[in-house]
Amino acid sequence: MASVTLHIQSPPLNHDAVSLSRNHFPVVTFKTTFLGSSLTANGKQLSLPKTFRTQPVITASSSTHTFDVVIIGAGIIGLTIARQFLIGSDLSVAVVDKDVPCSGATGAGQGYLWMVHKEPESDTWDLAMRGHKLWLMFAEKVRAQGLDPLQELGWKQTGSLLVGRSAKEAATLKKKVKKLSEAGLRAEYLTSDALRLKEPELDVGKDGGAAFLPGDCQLDAQRAVAFIQKENRHFSSKGRYAEFFHDPVTSLLRSDSSSEVEGVRTSKNTLYSKKAVIVAAGCWSGSLVHDLFRESDILLNVPVKPRKGHLVVLENFSSLKLNHGLMEMGYVDHLHDTVDRKSSHSVKVEEGQTLSVSMTATMDTVGNLVLGSSRQFTGYSTQVDESIINHIWKRAEEFFPKLKELSLEDFTLDRKVRIGLRPYMLDGKPVIGPVPALMNVIIATGHEGGGLSMVIYIPLFSTEEK
Ligand SMILES: Cc1cc2nc3c(=O)[nH]c(=O)nc-3n(C[C@H](O)[C@H](O)[C@H](O)COP(=O)(O)OP(=O)(O)OC[C@H]3O[C@@H](n4cnc5c(N)ncnc54)[C@H](O)[C@@H]3O)c2cc1C
Repeated sequence: MASVTLHIQSPPLNHDAVSLSRNHFPVVTFKTTFLGSSLTANGKQLSLPKTFRTQPVITASSSTHTFDVVIIGAGIIGLTIARQFLIGSDLSVAVVDKDVPCSGATGAGQGYLWMVHKEPESDTWDLAMRGHKLWLMFAEKVRAQGLDPLQELGWKQTGSLLVGRSAKEAATLKKKVKKLSEAGLRAEYLTSDALRLKEPELDVGKDGGAAFLPGDCQLDAQRAVAFIQKENRHFSSKGRYAEFFHDPVTSLLRSDSSSEVEGVRTSKNTLYSKKAVIVAAGCWSGSLVHDLFRESDILLNVPVKPRKGHLVVLENFSSLKLNHGLMEMGYVDHLHDTVDRKSSHSVKVEEGQTLSVSMTATMDTVGNLVLGSSRQFTGYSTQVDESIINHIWKRAEEFFPKLKELSLEDFTLDRKVRIGLRPYMLDGKPVIGPVPALMNVIIATGHEGGGLSMVIYIPLFSTEEK
């Protein structure tokens, strides 16, 4: 008999992460909580026998609704978790967002589903490999439905090039290729001459080179999200799926008797959850849980920070042709930079603020050149900063000499800027797991610059044959 198991994983909480507050309430700090594909060993399981399975959605009034699972956040993380519950169980799911899907980091994403810049044996490697395989399966599934992944997801197997311009970077890239090959990926080191044949417009100098992963793919985040949302909506007619957009979550509902979380209150609705509330609110997750638990006996600190990123999209760009997705090696350093550390392509913009810009470049499915990307800590503002656009352009010029013949001003009318706030964690690891004192509240955030590639859904849940 098939039974559905909701795996609620216990985070490997450090003792020093739990302390008493001034008020002697427990303070729980998610430090390095990380849930990868292999974490079932310590997982606690909440079995849902058949009799507990989803009933049709009960609505007590027009603004009160009941679901098995309520997910806060309609970014790639929230929507893919919803998808997993919908296709893998018969639980009912509500997704609630203060805005709309893609209004957060997801909508800005460049769409690289890459392994070339990931590090074998690092803490996030398994999760990245898992995401890589799941996306390949996902694209296959789309194809098996008679649909074209290129159209539906903006899916392209461009292959990825991680490029370096000095002998030192070339040596690091060679080592990287060796490690990636040993980890089972098809990887190749390209000398500057070999690279010129693959990307004639790219100039890395005579000492440079590239790590090349022909199997790496990219997608269009907005199209992929629209597709996932469409699939989720198939379950609406069965009463198993609902969306509440432009409707921020404002507070948690706690049970008087057990102090369990029973659901959430939003600006317009009350959403009861019978099994779990999942906080997948990207960089807002920290402040959100802080607010949600304000009046509770738990002080919860999820130290996720917004890390702003700009991307420039030059529409119908014909002056340069790229055959692959590209990224400079400096990107890898910037990914792990902290507020205080500065690296070679960092620019001090204001007192105490460092901007890092590393070249990323790709052509999307409709012939736009997408250039990135910047990283900075400037709070929650998503305003366009023209000086950063200039930095991105100047950085791209260093790799593509042809761009020097053009002026960014020529593209004012055919230019779009995408800005997103990456959910950044100091230790580079996402926070995925239940709140220790409240096992039915699960946090899933902190994917920084890898939320599109690393996970297609969070392994909180699986279907088991019994
Ligand atoms: C410029 C840029 C380029 C990137 N490129 C790539 C890439 O090539 N590959 C890759 O893998 N990753 C990339 N990323 C990273 C990736 O986009 C993120 O890791 C990922 O989108 C995070 O998804 P999320 O669902 O956690 O957050 P988000 O997409 O930010 O979603 C969070 C959602 O929560 C909602 N929310 C917040 N507060 C509330 C509330 N109180 N009530 C209800 N809803 C709320 C928000 O409105 C938002 O929709 C890039 C990011 C940026 C900025």
